[in-house]
Amino acid sequence: MFSLKQRTFFAITTVAAIVLAVVTASNSNADDYPRSIRRSVFGGRAKNVILFIGDGMGDSEITIARNYSVGAAGRLALDTLPLTGAYTTYALQESNPKLPDYVTDSAASGTGWATGNKTSNGRISTTAGTDQDLKTILEIAKEKGFRTGNVSTAELTDATPAVLMSHVNDRSCQGPQDMAKCPQDKKSAGGSGSIAEQSIDHNVDVLLGGGKQRFDQIIDGGQFTGKTVIQAAQAQGYDIVTSAAQLQSAQPGTKLLGLFSSGNMSLEWGGEPAIPYPGSGPQRCQENLRPADQPSLADMTTKAISLLEQQSRGRTGFFLQVEGASIDKRDHAGNPCEQIGETVAFDQAVKAGLEYAKQHPDTLVVVTADHGHTSQIIPQPTETDHSPGEFSTLITADDAEMTVNYATNLPTRSQEHTGTQVRIAAQGPQAANVVGVIDQTDLFHIIARAIGAE
Ligand SMILES: [Zn+2]
Repeated sequence: MFSLKQRTFFAITTVAAIVLAVVTASNSNADDYPRSIRRSVFGGRAKNVILFIGDGMGDSEITIARNYSVGAAGRLALDTLPLTGAYTTYALQESNPKLPDYVTDSAASGTGWATGNKTSNGRISTTAGTDQDLKTILEIAKEKGFRTGNVSTAELTDATPAVLMSHVNDRSCQGPQDMAKCPQDKKSAGGSGSIAEQSIDHNVDVLLGGGKQRFDQIIDGGQFTGKTVIQAAQAQGYDIVTSAAQLQSAQPGTKLLGLFSSGNMSLEWGGEPAIPYPGSGPQRCQENLRPADQPSLADMTTKAISLLEQQSRGRTGFFLQVEGASIDKRDHAGNPCEQIGETVAFDQAVKAGLEYAKQHPDTLVVVTADHGHTSQIIPQPTETDHSPGEFSTLITADDAEMTVNYATNLPTRSQEHTGTQVRIAAQGPQAANVVGVIDQTDLFHIIARAIGAE
């Protein structure tokens, strides 16, 4: 394995608290910040952990969404967390895990934050080269008595939610009929099954997202042979909901599987895609396009918190992961309005989490991304001076024009991830450990410390 220097975690002192309070005193939220930071640098255990992953949400994606939706001088909810650092995201090479693969995908990066171990691209919580299962923070939280939840706007079997609750050698092995690349994991071969089957078998208390097509597939081995994954879930005590209204009326007391679309959930906003010179726009985005029968990410987050909170009342708390998945997917597609709409929807979910944490300050809230992505804010293009890529000019909340560029692949191709470090921000117990430059695998240890597992 590529050797990682073990991070020394903060031994928090009064001096550090004072320094941090002074450093941030000039912030516009100065009234709240010192108190919030004092609480955050005071180590200790967290009752609850809420982890927000903006898929592909690098600094550019945050800045583009901020400029467009609240203006350059405005601040998103995710900008208000008191402690901020950056983390490195590189993966390992499958054929030579001693070497880094500088551009990660969501599977390898997710394995990093979920297990504390780096792996190669495409792997779901298994080791590079040797295919050994790596224990996840959700599995550890469950063992320690925490209620658990996993929420995404992608398919629930997509890489980010998958890394918490399954172990396969390839991210494509999402349903029992999708196992071409993971023959050894098939239930009929004595394995643990596809990502969908393993998710159910992990007894996660609240599962909300898209990807019903994976759970409608027929299981090919073991106790539930011939049944669909949904039928197996029901047999194992899950209530199933498939619309926003059903989600709203779901009650605590049983495990909940919410599948709100066949594939990825619908997008929030729309607009013209980026195109080569002269680019599209100037345009304003179309908002509120999500169909009413699908819940927003904020709706799913609020409901998941409410159910987990009620189920854990008076006992050990909960661990919840919330992914804004289509920031990444619409960045691949080179569509700035769709990308911004997903980032704003993710920010609304963060806002819901922060409102809960305000009433429950013993909650560790972490907001981060899994990897960087394509989009860049560039100068206004001219005929003789412009990017070879695709771009679109948007009219922002400032009433100014902002040009967004996509140029990590040829026009019309899927734009690529980038290998940059990304932001990690936090508040609550153990949050001070995100400050500085850390590695993605350190997030696993920060959460493990917060739940008393390290
Ligand atoms: Zn991606």
